Amino acid sequence: MKREDYISWDEYFMGVAKLSGMRSKDPHTQVGSCIVSQDNKILSMGYNGFPSGCSDEEFPWERDGEDELSTKYPYVTHSELNAILNYRGGSLEGAKLYVSLFPCNECAKAIIQAGIKTVIYDSDKYSSSASTKASKKMFNSAGVRYYQYTASGRVIKISI
Ligand SMILES: [Zn+2]
Repeated sequence: MKREDYISWDEYFMGVAKLSGMRSKDPHTQVGSCIVSQDNKILSMGYNGFPSGCSDEEFPWERDGEDELSTKYPYVTHSELNAILNYRGGSLEGAKLYVSLFPCNECAKAIIQAGIKTVIYDSDKYSSSASTKASKKMFNSAGVRYYQYTASGRVIKISI
């Protein structure tokens, strides 16, 4: 008899996205992404962080500062864009993206241009922001399907 309590595809990929987010050094926001092929193979992962070579010791993680340059915003790369750029295998046409937070408008542009056709998100806590509204408007026009992940409530503990 096979095990019956194995995790579903959605739990697996959202779990991998959230695990990836745990790599982020951002003290306030940890977001993770997992890009998956139409036949459920993981193609890429990403989390929010600074570009390669831009040290966390040198660049600020602050949200407020004297000027924009002393905040994280001009430097940080979001998990979705990192996952797209981390992919080395060619085309992402038709792929699915699992992400722990609804994509901002900049990532939405990259998602559309990369050919990703489905976005499965967990939190939508900034749904009233202009950025999220712009993302949804672009996804609707571009034919990118998006739906919220249905939490199973399962808690997974992994010893590492
Ligand atoms: Zn973004």
